[in-house]
Amino acid sequence: MDEKKDTPGLVREFLDGAAGIAGSYAATLTHLFRKPITEQYPDYKRPMPPRARGRIILTRSPDGKERCVACYLCSGVCPVNCISMQSEEGPDGRRRAAWFRINFARCIYCGLCEEACPTLAIQLTPEFAFCKDAIEDFVYEKEDLLVTHGGKDPDYDFYAHAGVAAGAPKGEHLGEDEPVDVKSILP
Ligand code: SF4
Ligand code: SF4
Repeated sequence: MDEKKDTPGLVREFLDGAAGIAGSYAATLTHLFRKPITEQYPDYKRPMPPRARGRIILTRSPDGKERCVACYLCSGVCPVNCISMQSEEGPDGRRRAAWFRINFARCIYCGLCEEACPTLAIQLTPEFAFCKDAIEDFVYEKEDLLVTHGGKDPDYDFYAHAGVAAGAPKGEHLGEDEPVDVKSILP
């Protein structure tokens, strides 16, 4: 059974409750007159860190050729299966994507595709504001993704290190040894 409270106890309880309510109103009033940080958007967009994970691009080598060799690693590692492509051999002998598609309506911008890419072709950019009215407009094709520059690593040239005989004969790429004639080392 509850004990009856004396008058000083009731007054203290009332004052505690009033102080709590006053504190809540004070916090609300403080925020009411604080300048909102989103006020100027979209006229002013706050600069994003260079490694922010936004819209994805396909970059090019310093020679202007496509970096993507359509190895399927990015699509294989993508946790939401939003990357698809078809590989083909280009006129210069390089393997490339005949078509390359990303569904940004499914992308969660985790960056795993960029980490998996052996040629630094696929890169996430700080661009985050590309809303669409129709969900099908979030499906970007290769021509929407392919840019004219090298992105974060403009000097990287995959084919200069890969030793593939596309653009230069075997043994003439950067740091590559002459190919071994296996018949010459037979016993
Ligand atoms: S950022 Fe993540 S979810 Fe988006 S395409 Fe790359 S791997 Fe897939
Ligand atoms: S973007 Fe990179 S990981 Fe994806 S298919 Fe092209 S080369 Fe492979």
